[in-house]
Amino acid sequence: MPATDFDVMINGREQPGLSGERFTRQSPFDQSVVSTYPNCGIEETRLAIVSARDTFDSTRWPVSKAADRAKILNKASQLMLERVDEFARWISLEAGKPIKMARSEVTHSAHVMAYYGSAAADLKGEAITQQVPDAVGLVINEPIGVVGIITPWNFPLSLVVRKVAPALAAGNTIVAKPSHFTPAVTLMLAKLLSEAGLPDGVFNVITSETENGALVGQEIAGSSKVDMVAFTGSTEAGKAVARAGAANIKRVALELGGKSPNIVFADADIDEALKGAYNGIYMNSGQVCQAGTRLMVQRDIKGEFVARLIEMSRAVRMGDPLSPDTSMGPVVNEKQFAKVNDYISRGRDEANLVFGGDKPADPALEKGFFVSPTIFDEVGNGATIAQEEIFGPVLSVMAFDTAEEALAIANDTMYGLAAAVWTNNINTAFQMAKGIRAGTVWVNAYHSTSLNNMPYGGYKQSGLGRELGADGLHEYMETKSVQLQLRGAAGAR
Ligand code: NAD
Repeated sequence: MPATDFDVMINGREQPGLSGERFTRQSPFDQSVVSTYPNCGIEETRLAIVSARDTFDSTRWPVSKAADRAKILNKASQLMLERVDEFARWISLEAGKPIKMARSEVTHSAHVMAYYGSAAADLKGEAITQQVPDAVGLVINEPIGVVGIITPWNFPLSLVVRKVAPALAAGNTIVAKPSHFTPAVTLMLAKLLSEAGLPDGVFNVITSETENGALVGQEIAGSSKVDMVAFTGSTEAGKAVARAGAANIKRVALELGGKSPNIVFADADIDEALKGAYNGIYMNSGQVCQAGTRLMVQRDIKGEFVARLIEMSRAVRMGDPLSPDTSMGPVVNEKQFAKVNDYISRGRDEANLVFGGDKPADPALEKGFFVSPTIFDEVGNGATIAQEEIFGPVLSVMAFDTAEEALAIANDTMYGLAAAVWTNNINTAFQMAKGIRAGTVWVNAYHSTSLNNMPYGGYKQSGLGRELGADGLHEYMETKSVQLQLRGAAGAR
């Protein structure tokens, strides 16, 4: 299959970049070149920022009718649902994600767009009329301005849409920089939004492999023409974005890493908890910020629980991400492959390897960056594999006796993104849900998205701010208080 050449989107025009230099993306499954992109540098980034700035400052977009913005988002959602296969195929090709899961990422993204379409149609402020007789207060929400959006490769569409949709609903303009491993769907989104009626210059996208995208990311985060930066990625890069954003006191929204505890009490529905442990760690080959990487099982049932999880792990089907039979694809690239294998080597010294730890033997997988499902037992919470984000299908299992001990272990991490508790005792469930310092806590579920408009984000070093839901829209708005002093009519009855 010949590679597809994509161009960047600046001011409503697809263009090849100034230098003509391009970079390629190879499939993590078989190393074939699937796509090429302009390797943009500082100059193109500045052009994209100026396009977003001018569109915000000099067109009617920021003061457009909310109903018109709603219409664009709803139309874009509908178009995306008509193109699920096309978007999903590109997610699979570039990220190595199994096609079934890629499809659900696309439908989720379309629903998020529709959600913010409705939210735009429903935008309103607040009136304060009863506090004093001679003044009226209005609380007005306004767009922030130019929003920089920097995203990673593991959910290349949904992590962009969660930012773009509320930013557009509020009336902002955007400069987006996707990960250089998975740029296709962000560029496809830009074209789709154009088709849905988005004016030129509102949504600009640049691609860059320069210094792993950090150069361009820093330019966006540091630019005084950008008013906010919304970033998803590693905690280290997030800190660099926050530092650069301080230059003009930008609003910064950060969705960062995690090391989430998945806590199973002896009184839980064990079959369901096993499914939760399995999905919690193996979904997307473990490349999920909220993955349930620390499996904590009450001591009495741990032996049997781990034995059953090992049996289930034998059924993981690694293969071509485009095949509907594949349940686990390769990890995203060589660097990630080496990193995960390094952690597995360290784990061998730190804990008891009870499953996996090797490269799969199947010759059909030879060219891909496949890591076998891997389970370490008897892991101390101080171990590297219990504290650091591995971002691969590598599980650390530990035992606990009491709810208090479980809480102490769960919270003993610099992260606070997500957690799950499995129990049939409502008191235990609530004690844990209240005690765990994380932005999301599931009770008797893992990775559940059935309530996918609830606010999402991290405590501690897992992030700043919230995505999704009403909170996710507020992130992209300024709040203005207007006080009207009344004369004459004051106190009239
Ligand atoms: P990454 O931090 O390497 O890169 C993320 C993005 O930032 C990319 O576009 C990259 O080019 C850019 N970038 C890198 N360094 C930068 C810098 N110094 N300044 C500005 N931009 C920079 O992350 P990744 O490897 O692409 O993704 C994996 C990470 O993302 C994991 O740590 C994972 O936990 C995190 N993540 C978090 C969430 C969440 O919602 N909390 C969701 C998905 C992924």
